[in-house]
Amino acid sequence: MTDPYLELAERALRNEAPTPDECAALLDDPGVELLPLVQAAFAPRRQHFGRKVMVHVLNNAQNGLCPEDCGYCAQNKDSQAAIRKYPMKGDEEILAAAEAAAKAGASRYCIAISGRGPTVQRAHQLATIVRTIKDRYPIELCISGGLLGDEHAKILADAGLDRFNHNLNTSEAHYDKICTTHTYRDRIDTLEALKRNGIEPCSGLIVGMGEQTLDVVDVAFELRRLEVPSIPMNFLIPIEGNQVVGDGSLTPERCLRAVCMMRLVNPTAEIRLAGGREGHLRSLGVLALWPANSLFVEGYLTTRGDAVRETYQMIHDAGFEVEGNPLYARERDRNGGFRLGNDDEALLRPEVRR
Ligand code: SF4
Repeated sequence: MTDPYLELAERALRNEAPTPDECAALLDDPGVELLPLVQAAFAPRRQHFGRKVMVHVLNNAQNGLCPEDCGYCAQNKDSQAAIRKYPMKGDEEILAAAEAAAKAGASRYCIAISGRGPTVQRAHQLATIVRTIKDRYPIELCISGGLLGDEHAKILADAGLDRFNHNLNTSEAHYDKICTTHTYRDRIDTLEALKRNGIEPCSGLIVGMGEQTLDVVDVAFELRRLEVPSIPMNFLIPIEGNQVVGDGSLTPERCLRAVCMMRLVNPTAEIRLAGGREGHLRSLGVLALWPANSLFVEGYLTTRGDAVRETYQMIHDAGFEVEGNPLYARERDRNGGFRLGNDDEALLRPEVRR
């Protein structure tokens, strides 16, 4: 009898996706064992990315002030979340953060700007920043900036922008439950404009927003159809004051199964552990390095995440390697040996100390 996990791995190595029903079973069927599934999803990850882990650093360059109503986002116009709103940071601040990201070993620096999408004037301003960063630092560059069309995409492509992020977030059927000010079709149109103009689209999803299993599967197949090369996987961070605050469906195991399913459907894509990695995958976070080959450090749009140091420790402990860049001082993070979670913590428990 054929080993079903081996068969999944072999199909992924041939870039054949499982069927949607098989994908639903990977998420829901308790008879699907987690560790063999992780091992199956590792096969295409190893084929295309070896044991390297790409590290991304995100700069939230403009916060709030958004006219859209994406219910999962603390920056949306109706959110009551306690966040500070600020207009776009100055160029020097954005450039300094790019340098820090490169020196910390990030392979990619992401500039996130709240709002429906850039004006033409804003696209030119971003293009100037893109040119400066590309001239100064050996780092790939991504902008997350909302909806855009051909005119904006061309301006950014001419400046040398590598990628533009615009997540599908959920299925078309579920889209109006999370946002009413723009449509799923608007998001697809943005991804197609990016592709037409030679910018790599980065697009992923958020799991845990009240969707059904087949909605998650549907997004995975839509990203495959669109040949999206970069897929961030977010797990909804419940932010008090937002309209969408979680459906209680997310366990570490379900999150890990979702990452494995995404890898098997999109064997060649860069799959990135994004928002909610720390809080939802928890102790299984390290296992997600087997299907995923990329992650964020130091936090997300409005929430904190694990720091560079502890994330690199996890990567090294699991036998993986930070991809880094020429400015990255690799040996700094390879000091090995025993380590407690907190450097300031004494080794001995207080009650046994003399
Ligand atoms: S996800 Fe983007 S467009 Fe939607 S509310 Fe947040 S900042 Fe605005």
